[in-house]
Formats: sequence, C-alpha cells, structure tokens
Amino acid sequence: MTVQTSNFQPGSVAIIGGGLTGLSLAFRLQQKGIPFLLFEKDDRLGGVINTIRKAGFQYEEGPNTGVLSTTETVELFEDIGCPTEIANPAAANRWILKKGEWVALPAGFWAGVTTPLFSFKDKLRLLGEPFRKKGRNPKETLAELVVRRMGKSFLDYAVDPFISGIYAGDPNQLITKYALPKLYQLEQGYGSFIKGAIKKSKLPKTALEKKANKAVFSAKGGLGSLIESITSKLDQEALYTGSEVRHISKTSNGFSLKIKQGDRYKFFEAERVVTSSGGSYLKNLFDFIQPQLFTDIVNLRYAKVIQIAVGFNHWKGTKLNAFGGLIPEKENRDILGVLFPASIFPGRAPEGGALMSVFMGGIKKPDLYDKTDEELKAIALKALRELFHDETLSPDLFELFRYQQAIPQYDSSSEARLAAISAIEENHPGVFLAGNIRDGIGMADRIKQAYHLAEILSK
Ligand SMILES: Cc1cc2nc3c(=O)[nH]c(=O)nc-3n(C[C@H](O)[C@H](O)[C@H](O)COP(=O)(O)OP(=O)(O)OC[C@H]3O[C@@H](n4cnc5c(N)ncnc54)[C@H](O)[C@@H]3O)c2cc1C
Repeated sequence: MTVQTSNFQPGSVAIIGGGLTGLSLAFRLQQKGIPFLLFEKDDRLGGVINTIRKAGFQYEEGPNTGVLSTTETVELFEDIGCPTEIANPAAANRWILKKGEWVALPAGFWAGVTTPLFSFKDKLRLLGEPFRKKGRNPKETLAELVVRRMGKSFLDYAVDPFISGIYAGDPNQLITKYALPKLYQLEQGYGSFIKGAIKKSKLPKTALEKKANKAVFSAKGGLGSLIESITSKLDQEALYTGSEVRHISKTSNGFSLKIKQGDRYKFFEAERVVTSSGGSYLKNLFDFIQPQLFTDIVNLRYAKVIQIAVGFNHWKGTKLNAFGGLIPEKENRDILGVLFPASIFPGRAPEGGALMSVFMGGIKKPDLYDKTDEELKAIALKALRELFHDETLSPDLFELFRYQQAIPQYDSSSEARLAAISAIEENHPGVFLAGNIRDGIGMADRIKQAYHLAEILSK
C-alpha cells in the first residue's frame, strides 16, 4: 500500500540514517533552525552504538570508547547536557603481547629506552627521526611510512597492533594520507613526527580547543546515553524509525523519498538530502544517478568484526590495570585484542568482577566471520585462557555481536572514492554523501563531519 504525503518545507533536509552522524547532524540543524526529517530503517536509533545492562554488567555492543579529539565532540556533549565519563588514569596503560606475555607500551623516556618491545637498533634510529627527510609519495602505505621513519620493530609491536585495534585493518594496505591524516600532516607540515608533535603542542589554543584534549571518553551510563541525550533534544515529530529509505527522485522543489514502513510505502519531500549509510546502500537509492557512478564508492572495503563481551562476577587473575591488550600479527593469535571496560570506567562489572571486550576477525582474518557463535566463543575462551595463563577461566557473561561492515578501510581505493563522491555532489546540488565513507572512522570524526555539514547546509 502506498500513501502520498505532502510535507515539503523550504530549506528542509532529509537525513538518511539515525546513527551518530545522522543524529548529530539533526541536532546541529535544529540548533540553526533548519527543518529536518530523519529516517532510520531500524526500530532503534543509534546505529552501531548500543549499551546493554544485564546481570550486573554494563557493556557496549559497538564502540566502547571514543577519543575527545575534536572540538565539535566537546560542543555536542556540552550542548545536549550529557555528562561524559573520562577514562580512569590507570587505563592510560596499554599492553602489547610479545612472546606470549603482556608488555606495557612505554610512556616515558626511560621506559622507552628499556622496553623489550622494540629493537635496540630501532631505538637508536628513533633519535634520528627529526632529521630524516620527509616522504614524497602521497600514496605511501602506513607500513612503509613507519618503517622509513621509525623502523620495522615499531611497525610490528606498536603500529600493527594499534591498527588492529582501531581499524581492524592492515598497515600494509592503509594509505596514511587517508587513514591517519593527522600523522601524514605532521610529516608533511613539520618534516618529522617528533618535531611536529612538539611544535603543535606549543601552538596557542582557544578554551574550546583545550577541552579537545584527546581524553578517552564514554558517556555516563554508557554510549547509549549519548544517543538518548541527543534524541531527547530533537523534535520527535521529525524522527522516523522503522523507516527505510528505498528510493530518491528529483522534484521541482528538491527531492521525493520513498520510505518503507512495515508493509506500507510513504512519500516525503525535502529540499536537500544527506545520506549517512555505508557505500553498498547508496548504489540503487537515487533514480537520477547512474548506479555505475557509485562503483568507486561501493568498492570501499569494510573489516568484518566480531565483538564478544566477556564478564566475570569474581576476578582473581592478572590485575587488569590497563585500557586493554593488543596483539601484533607476529604473535599469531586468533583474537585481535581485548579491552578492559571495567578498568576504564566505573560500574561496568559487579564489585570484584571484570569485564572484557574481545575483538576478532578484521581484514587479516575475515574467514573467522563464517564460524558459528559457539565456535567463535570457544576460540575466544581458549585465547583468553592462554593470555591470562589460567585454564579454569569461565565467564559468567558471554555475548557475541557481529558486524559485517564494521570499519571502512581507507586504502588505495580512497582517492577514486573521494573523487566519485565529489563528482556526484557537484553534479547533483542538494545531494550530500556523508557517513564513514569519508572523513574518518571514529565517533569524534562522525560528529565533526555532521557539524561541518550543518554549517554548509545553513549557508
Ligand atoms: C564494532 C565496532 C567498534 C567500534 N569501536 C569504536 C571505538 O572504539 N571508538 C570510536 O570512536 N569509534 C568506534 N567505532 C566506529 C563508530 O562506532 C562509528 O564511526 C559511528 O558510530 C558510526 O556512526 P554512523 O552514524 O556514521 O553510522 P551507523 O552507526 O552505521 O549508522 C548508520 C545508520 O543508517 C541506517 N540506514 C542505512 N541505510 C538506511 C536506509 N536506506 N534508510 C534508513 N536508514 C538507513 C542504519 O540502520 C544505521 O542505523 C566502532 C564501530 C564498530 C562497528
């Protein structure tokens, strides 16, 4: 059944997707007095962000923590009045697995000199980093860049595990310019990571910039509370859940959207359209854009990720006084790493207990995704028993979540993808392609993109 709806408002924006990008954009547009309609295909808002409370544990289905790295993230938290939770200082510690044992990533000079993580030769080489010539290849992979400036052991025991933790990716495939643009700019702008970091730390900062201090954050009550806070501030009449955008066509005013709600179809109109969904959804959405123009966008590869929340009512094992442990590829394990949310934030596990978030799969081990939940849990438990040297480990909470399209990989296909996005937007004024197909993969990147887009849409 199809219902025709006439609801056009001049200047209005239709937002497709009610994850963090779509909700932050809606909030910012509302602040600026721009009418919007937000469509989310699921019955719940938040996209991959969801906090679950069960049997004394509070755990995340998707992201566990963000980094307060953009001023827009600070502004959003302040404007919606959502209290942040900032990581416990003890969680500044990051563990890396080497030869089967956890080793803390060095934080100070002396720890850096004595750490067994990096070779003596590379430690000496690091002293020469400020004097090394800057790279000239904008298509250089992250692995090439790190080996060139710092040495192979830094790639193997710092960058590789961190890229597993952030991108579930492979530094040999990610292109620094797109995947870690700030790092790329440090070298290009200052000639060296070390010189760049020192000079940048001395630049004057506004009060707001000082608050974007790279602290690790969640929201009080978990990241789900951030979603609830944003949602509660929005015009509820403009939010359509259980509403999948199936088709978009041009009208004399702007655009008409065909929305599937259960077994009914409804039409809505808006002057501008913003998508925030992954590449594969976009191809057949616009009847006025040839599907082949989306090829370079659809080519974006995503890492498949399995996340398992593992809880213990009583924990008597290794003291988990760290953010978590990351596992270099060289260590040849079946899991990518494990976070300790109850060590980072309060109230994640019963008193005296522990909570872990185990990550598996990623770009390097995509086949794990095809295993059953039971097989994956057995692999995770075996890995945890080995890593914590305790054959008796037996979780009280064991919940598994899968993401077929978890983290986009900004690899060598990025240049063509960004060109395709620009070409579509230029040729079709009023169409904006947002979300994690561009501008970064983290939550702070999503909020920053949404705020910038709101600025453009308000002109
Ligand atoms: C397992 C995992 C762990 C992560 N860990 C971290 C972390 O530790 N730190 C960090 O900063 N970031 C992390 N991230 C990334 C972060 O969660 C995302 O960048 C962010 O939440 C994405 O928000 P989004 O709105 O862009 O996309 P999504 O959350 O994917 O939202 C897009 C929404 O669009 C909807 N949609 C799609 N097509 C349509 C349609 N046709 N009609 C209507 N609705 C549609 C979808 O249902 C979805 O709700 C992680 C992500 C995953 C998956």
